[in-house]
Amino acid sequence: LHAMTKGDPAMSDRLANLPAPLEAEGVWKNVFSYHPMDVELARAEGVHLFDTKGNRYIDASGGPMAVNLGHNDPRMRAAVEAQMRDFAYVHPVLANRPRAALCNAIAEVAPEGLNATYLVSGGSEAVETAVKIARQYWVGAGKPEKHKVIACYESYHGMTLGTMALSGNAATMRPFDPMLQKWPHVRQYSDHLKPAHLDRDEWAVECARDLERLIHCEGAHSVAAFIVTPHGCGSEYGVVAPARYWEEVRRICDEYEVLLIADEVVTGFGRTGEWFGMQHFGVAPDIMTMAKGISSCFLPLGAVTVSDAINEVFRAGTPFIHGFTNGGNALSCAAGLQVIDIIKEDGLIAHCREMGERLFAQKERLLAHPTVADARGWGLFMVLEMVESKASREYFAPEKQAEQLFQSLALKNGLVFYSTLYGARRRPLFRRGLPLWVSPPLTISASEIDELVDRLDRTLGEWERMLGVAGV
Ligand code: PLP
Repeated sequence: LHAMTKGDPAMSDRLANLPAPLEAEGVWKNVFSYHPMDVELARAEGVHLFDTKGNRYIDASGGPMAVNLGHNDPRMRAAVEAQMRDFAYVHPVLANRPRAALCNAIAEVAPEGLNATYLVSGGSEAVETAVKIARQYWVGAGKPEKHKVIACYESYHGMTLGTMALSGNAATMRPFDPMLQKWPHVRQYSDHLKPAHLDRDEWAVECARDLERLIHCEGAHSVAAFIVTPHGCGSEYGVVAPARYWEEVRRICDEYEVLLIADEVVTGFGRTGEWFGMQHFGVAPDIMTMAKGISSCFLPLGAVTVSDAINEVFRAGTPFIHGFTNGGNALSCAAGLQVIDIIKEDGLIAHCREMGERLFAQKERLLAHPTVADARGWGLFMVLEMVESKASREYFAPEKQAEQLFQSLALKNGLVFYSTLYGARRRPLFRRGLPLWVSPPLTISASEIDELVDRLDRTLGEWERMLGVAGV
């Protein structure tokens, strides 16, 4: 950051007061690969984080789009404490009633026909589990050649070797390339690339048919599943395709006997204004992955819910070859159950829709900035596409350290954003902007939404002036 200020003492002064990453020394020296920002958390309450210096921040992305209930809800503490008094943990093969209760509660809110749930500890584990279920399903169903999993370019499904191979993010995959399975990838729905002569529905069918062409080229006999998030990923993060896209994807998956895996790790548990993203489209997947909002990150939890047809093959044949020590951990289950109860009791799905409308009603203010090329999404999930210029639609070159500067300014202005916390690690997307996630806890109030937008607006203005963006 300080290199940017060469020859400009005033700017250097301003930057000197901004939070910056800490060196891995002192108390941090034995923590592998950890360079936290110079903002140490003391406590958290509702949508707010408080640091050890007494500063207050809005948790503007709800952690990594995960803290759906806000922080420190006493009902969560009570539920986990109550379970802890009985037992915290049992071996997964012993009967553990909180596990059954959580699976039943998920079945109640999941799309129709998806009823049986396998519990894990997080999103990457959930995706790995879903892929293994798909594979073993086809073996059990007498089609053992079906093993390939198709994913979208630039998608993100996790950080294990298996999930990274699906993710199709060239920059993060590169160092691990020789160790990753080469799965086929397909383009996703894109409003940006839509030809002017087609309407959204016509273009949606075109995009979906790329999947059909790919299945045809790979050989349907070899394709086990297509994994996809309910909204776009990478450069298209937050783009909500028309229902027509999903209807066509469902038609293709049925015709070629390919399982549809909806990765609802981010979109699940109310974030989009429905329990799950796919419920907006009226299209049910065969397998659904969940994490993050399922426990609002009070405790580590993830889940995979499968259709009755898939469940039947496992019931009638070989049980699933899988298992993690902490799958169905009783404390995590108690947390998950309580989250579902609170979402219902507090009417958080309807509240999310209402607060989402308030957030999106102010998007023109954000779009007025020369660095905001798009503001899109649903529910309480807004993605700003950040660019250097709207004409080129490209992000700043890494040397400009625009990410780090944005991060420091946002923190100074009392906002914690997920994306920018990665600062130097994020790279501009191919010929597109970088996504910035505005996804506060679903419990946020109207005045807190307005405060968030005010602070974001101010941060953008300061950032643009410091970077010397034309037209500011
Ligand atoms: N799938 C999606 C769509 C995600 O966004 C993420 C994480 O951001 C994951 C899977 C991996 O989840 P986790 O970080 O809990 O392993």
